[in-house]
This record gives sequence, C-alpha cells and structure tokens, in this order.
Amino acid sequence: MSLRPARRALLRVAGTQAPERPESADQPLRLVSALSAAGRIARAEGLAGGGERGHELRLPGIGGRYLAGVAAHAHERGWAPLEAAALRDAVEDRSAMWIVCPSAAALRRAGLIEGGRGRAVCARWSAGDWSRIALDVPALAAVAASGGTRGVCAAAVSGTGAPRRLVAAVHADGVQTGLLARGLAASLGVRWAVELLVATALPSGSLMALRERVASAPRCGWCGVPLLGPDCRRCLPGARR
Ligand SMILES: [Zn+2]
Repeated sequence: MSLRPARRALLRVAGTQAPERPESADQPLRLVSALSAAGRIARAEGLAGGGERGHELRLPGIGGRYLAGVAAHAHERGWAPLEAAALRDAVEDRSAMWIVCPSAAALRRAGLIEGGRGRAVCARWSAGDWSRIALDVPALAAVAASGGTRGVCAAAVSGTGAPRRLVAAVHADGVQTGLLARGLAASLGVRWAVELLVATALPSGSLMALRERVASAPRCGWCGVPLLGPDCRRCLPGARR
C-alpha cells in the first residue's frame, strides 16, 4: 500500500463499531475503539481480545482511524480477519503518536497516562506503549517536519482554543492536518486536543509479499492470530498495552 491509498483509507474509514456478528473470512476485521470500556480494560490488563468482541485498537483518534484504514485496505484485498489483525498490530507497534490536551486527568481517565497533573499535557505512543512525556513544542515540530520521510505523517486539531504555536508545530509542509469540531477533544471531554501520528507506510506492491508471510506464519495456540514475532502480542499479558 502506498502513501496515497493509505491516506484515502484514513479518510474513508470514519470510526469503529462494536461487533455484532461472529467473525468470518469474508467479513472485515471488527475493531473496538481505544477509548471504549473494552479497549481501556484491555490496555490496563495488557491483554487484547478478539473473536466475538472485536479487536481493540490501542491508538485513539487519527491513529485509530489510520489503523482501521489499514485493516479495511487489507480486507478489500482478500485478507482474512485474523490476518488483517496481525498486520494492523504490526503497523500499530511500528507507529508513534503524540496527543496534547489541556488536562492530565482526561488522559489518565482514558488510560493513556498513569498520573500527574498539569495543563497542556503530552502523551506519547512509542515502542508499543503509552506514557506521559514533557511537552516539547519544538521537538513536535521537528517530528512533523521530518515525519513524511519516515512514512505516513498526519495531524489533527479538534475542539476549540488549541494553542496557536502547537497547531503551527504539527502543521508542517506535507503533513495532512484535519481540523475537527469534535473529534478526540470530544471523546476525551477536553476543550481541545492536538494529535500527531507517524506510522509506517506499507510500500506499494509489498502487500502481497506481506500476506504470504502472514499466511505462512505460525498461529498463536490461544487466540489464533498469526505470529510475526516470538510471542503473541495480543494475548500475552504485558506484551501489549
Ligand atoms: Zn495469542
């Protein structure tokens, strides 16, 4: 998948739905929002679900929409739901995301950070985990400026009243920026939220090779997801947050 289809998918897949029917090969992967109760419990436990309940996203906002787009893209090309889950997990593990909002309490309630207070708080997804980091606007600007060279780079500003220098920082040349009246700010219950995503892009033409690798990978004996690493990242406690 090249950068362009990925971006189209990002725009086309608006959200995530709770599962209604059992999973089958001809149905798309069912995804559960990272901010839903199930997604938050999964993150707190370091466990991920699957099957009846759907697959919990670990990234909310634009991260979740991009990953839903990746899963939809794979489904359109005939990937089975568990294969799409393995691909989505691999892309999620290789993504970085920053969320800045005016409330540490809101990020704590969402399960993205563990503690602390303050305004203009920054949570970062990196190496498969969320943590609180010091807000460094020039560093965010540098990430946005170079993000496009590393893969897919997208930003979103939601709500009203986001600090202008923060908005300017993520709105670098070549970064697709969405301005949303509600978006993640509404989901978190805060006045504004600024998001920056740097995700791995699937190089054009590589999806077939990736699928062969996924299809021939051993399956987790517990949850059935193809294993792309030594351990199952979906159902081994602590391996996935
Ligand atoms: Zn498993």
